[in-house]
Amino acid sequence: MAFKRVLIANRGEIALRILRALRDMGIEVAIIHGREDRLSLPVRLADVAYPIMRQNPLDSYLDIEAVVSAAKDLDCDAVHPGYGFLAENAHFVKRLEEEGITFIGPTAEVITLLGDKIEARAAMEAAGLPTAKGSSEPISSAEVAITLADEIGYPVIIKAAAGGGGIGMQIVEKSAEFENALKLCRSRAKSAFGDDRVFVEKYIEGAQHIEFQVLGDGKNAIHFGERFCSIQRRHQKLVEEGPWLSEEKRAEIGALVCEGAESVGYKGLATFEFLRDKNGDFYFLEVNPRVQVEHTVTELITGYNLVELGIRVAQGEDLPLTQADISWNGHAIQCRLNAEDPKDFIPSPGRLWECHFPSGFGIRCDTHAHPGYEMPGCFDSLLAKLLTWGPTREDAIARMRTALDETIITGVEHLIPLHRRIMDEEDFLNRDITIQYIDNHQDLLG
Ligand code: ADP
Repeated sequence: MAFKRVLIANRGEIALRILRALRDMGIEVAIIHGREDRLSLPVRLADVAYPIMRQNPLDSYLDIEAVVSAAKDLDCDAVHPGYGFLAENAHFVKRLEEEGITFIGPTAEVITLLGDKIEARAAMEAAGLPTAKGSSEPISSAEVAITLADEIGYPVIIKAAAGGGGIGMQIVEKSAEFENALKLCRSRAKSAFGDDRVFVEKYIEGAQHIEFQVLGDGKNAIHFGERFCSIQRRHQKLVEEGPWLSEEKRAEIGALVCEGAESVGYKGLATFEFLRDKNGDFYFLEVNPRVQVEHTVTELITGYNLVELGIRVAQGEDLPLTQADISWNGHAIQCRLNAEDPKDFIPSPGRLWECHFPSGFGIRCDTHAHPGYEMPGCFDSLLAKLLTWGPTREDAIARMRTALDETIITGVEHLIPLHRRIMDEEDFLNRDITIQYIDNHQDLLG
């Protein structure tokens, strides 16, 4: 059944991205917002806006009952969660189900399964995906962890079962470090996720981060190829690009992720994240059961509107295309223009006095920013996503240099100087990039 009106339970650039897709589809746009966002572009452009004012700004987007009430009061058929906030909250999905409102994403059961990294690892291993050696159960004592680490070999990494955003992760080089590292990871996990279960996994040295874009309709799944996202700060991505793999490797891993998605009856957009080691072997990390910040890279090289496809399967449509329909054309790069100090990544909120984003052939900029926009300090620091496309990687890089040089942002610190240096850096140009790239190129921080 086609949706008539959808509630966007998010803010910033992704709210605008979803709004545009809904408009293209002829669906009315409703949106919630807190005090900080009352004058924001997605709120001004929506057909109807619903304020949820809270003392703590984050609560405007996290209060499940308030969001459910908004969807009911505004007569919405469905809620689009975007990423972050309630996007991976199974209780929220259940509450919407109870009210007969569609959640644009997978079922509560699938979210619960995939939200637990220990369970997700086991499920994907059973579906035939390669995983790094590690514990299949939560680990709470240093003795058990040490026995396991002796078996799989150091270094290992301790991660939160409920983890996200790289929070709490601890790398352990030798047994004497376990006691403290375990304590630290558990307490960070407890305060960030309210769940102190942690597990141990082989630490993949010199790894690259490669992820696959998937779309499922609950029965079948197809993939849209890979994105390379190894340039990270504090385990969070800064630059994403694609394609990266040979056709054979893409087909091989692509088939596996589709198997994985089908094995859990996945519905909606998903990203399967992997690490690839020096030998080219892949290790499954996790599934992100939602639209991702960097879905845009895949849109540029495949020509498909992923957000629209996610909404269509949520409406109950079968996959409107087959694997054979998907091909990859040229190369795309995305730079995250965060409002952060490019030396130390400290957020830099404030008013944008002046702001000009580039456009032209092969350029896309997804942003909710405009001159006069007050970048709040209480939310994510993502200000704009700047993408370029070219027939080859070299062309896309050359165009990114042009685009970065054209961008004007005054009033806040931002990452343009860092991105501009990366675009000229030799290892980057030679595709010689691992997840340690920023650590190993401190000179780029200027
Ligand atoms: P989160 O959900 O917290 O983002 P992930 O499991 O997706 O956690 O990992 C995020 C990042 O942490 C990876 O891109 C990588 O940089 C690092 N990482 C995670 N697991 C490993 C591992 N086993 N070996 C090396 N690095 C890892």
